[in-house]
Amino acid sequence: MSRTNDRLLLVDGRLVPGAGGAFETINPATEEVLGTAADASADDMDRAIAAARRAFDETGWATGHAFRARCLRQLREGLRRRADELRELTIKEVGAPRFLTFGAQLDAPVDDLAWFADLVDDYGWERDLGRAEPMGMPSHRRVVREAVGVVGAITPWNFPHQINLAKLGPALAAGNTVVLKPAPDTPWCAAVLGEVIAEETDFPPGVVNVVTSSDHALGAQLTQDPRVDLVSFTGSTATGRNVMASAAGTLKRVFLELGGKSAFVVLDDADLRAACSYAAFAGITHAGQGCAITTRILVPRERHDEAVEITARALAKLGAGDPQDDRTICGPVISAGQRERIEGYLEQAVKDGGAFACGGGRPEGRDRGFWIEPTLITGLTNDSRAAREEIFGPVLVILPHDGDDDAVRIANDSPYGLSGAVHGGDVERARGVARRLRTGTVSVNGGVWYGADVPFGGYKQSGIGREMGVAGFEEYLETKAIAEGV
Ligand code: NAD
Repeated sequence: MSRTNDRLLLVDGRLVPGAGGAFETINPATEEVLGTAADASADDMDRAIAAARRAFDETGWATGHAFRARCLRQLREGLRRRADELRELTIKEVGAPRFLTFGAQLDAPVDDLAWFADLVDDYGWERDLGRAEPMGMPSHRRVVREAVGVVGAITPWNFPHQINLAKLGPALAAGNTVVLKPAPDTPWCAAVLGEVIAEETDFPPGVVNVVTSSDHALGAQLTQDPRVDLVSFTGSTATGRNVMASAAGTLKRVFLELGGKSAFVVLDDADLRAACSYAAFAGITHAGQGCAITTRILVPRERHDEAVEITARALAKLGAGDPQDDRTICGPVISAGQRERIEGYLEQAVKDGGAFACGGGRPEGRDRGFWIEPTLITGLTNDSRAAREEIFGPVLVILPHDGDDDAVRIANDSPYGLSGAVHGGDVERARGVARRLRTGTVSVNGGVWYGADVPFGGYKQSGIGREMGVAGFEEYLETKAIAEGV
């Protein structure tokens, strides 16, 4: 079906306008208004939750394994059929560099739906514990895994397809019904999911609801409603705290994927040029708007100045560019508000005694759109704000370390614990350092941990629970023990 520039909610199987009217979605590279998305009201959200509850309680969705797997495969095929349109939409709405849409910004998460569909077929849903005689009473015991119920999925804007599908895939594979509340900055990426589900799949009405809104309050509504059994949230640590507090009123299960301030550790036997060039590339991909991006580069003190020079030169060469261009690594940041926030961190860094080895402002010649130059800050310590807090822009801090123990100490001296990287000549030594990092994922010498089968998530204030992998799937399951008298 050809599309206008307005997109709708998916509530109870129907594509409908929002009772709150519509709100604009904007291209962050140009500030062009792309069109509008339905602006849901609290009543729309209420209807979506009621539909999800009814679909869970009154249909066979939760127990129909083969049917669920089929619907997930249909969703994957429907999204693949619209891949070209989705690629352009993602570049325009998210400001994602084109090259990333062939990976984590689009193609990879769409493909990963197959992994979750296969898991429905392969998972050990029931375990037979056999006979026993607890307290002299002969019993046959079984342990059954089943869906939790209604899932409220709340997502951010930075990797919208990846995060929306990393919640829908396992939640639906496990037999739950879902209300998805995406970020106000990227409503279209979610609304398209609603269109594909409504038009190209057999998902029964109410099993998936997509509720776009300009108002964060609709997310809070999901966390408070007693008909929602589990909140699966990805976003900032500050909002994660609010989600957890507000879900406590109804003792919901909460699953939180939050922020990070990950370290890129360069050991003294590493190829400094290769490691620092890679750190520059990894640190400003998608303008640094990734929770797991390694934004603190820890380098051997005796090679600090050389490392600064290599990294700064690599960052300047990569630059910030049009996300439509195949060669662009670093596009715009998502909004004027986010740009201001980043600029606040840059000002603070200077007040704290830092200096810019490159960048530090807006790139020349970009009068429209929301841009920040790739930036490297030197001269700070690990207790400065730029080194402790998540900036969520193309801004890296470089810090000296005095050997492996010191590097591990600095890397772990953070309220976060999401990810990290270690580069070294001796892989066993590098692996040893990786094992000492208190984070949910670590890359050694450029290894990529991303994949449907790999659990991803945070230690400390980076979150609770895991997304993806079997561990991620099991977040969406309850465990029931059944004992039969024999
Ligand atoms: P955010 O926390 O501002 O918003 C995330 C979502 O929460 C949005 O849908 C928003 O509308 C909703 N929301 C806001 N207030 C709410 C409330 N009180 N109750 C319920 N929902 C509420 O985050 P953002 O700015 O959209 O995204 C950037 C953040 O997301 C960064 O901190 C980043 O690290 C984090 N993130 C984490 C991961 C991860 O997997 N760990 C992945 C991507 C992004």
